[in-house]
Amino acid sequence: MRKPKAYVEVSCLCCGELGPHNGRGLRKTCYLRHFHAGTLDDFPPLGQTLTCLWRRENYAELRERNIPLREAAERLGVHQRTAERYEARLKAAA
Ligand SMILES: [Zn+2]
Repeated sequence: MRKPKAYVEVSCLCCGELGPHNGRGLRKTCYLRHFHAGTLDDFPPLGQTLTCLWRRENYAELRERNIPLREAAERLGVHQRTAERYEARLKAAA
């Protein structure tokens, strides 16, 4: 197993510069700048993005068609662990 990195490097959402990710797709310098300027709300928190919703919906659809969990995960390009979380969420919602 690879150790997780201390930080993730991102290409910043506002200026495209590379830097350590701080949150909302912004590098640290920019995150702090937007935080102090009160413009942080222009950048929605990650994890609530459309791609996330899109994957969950597609996952539900694949499972409805009796596609096995492992294969559904592969098709969506997510880790099996992630698919298991989607699965738990589906069951909770059912
Ligand atoms: Zn920036």
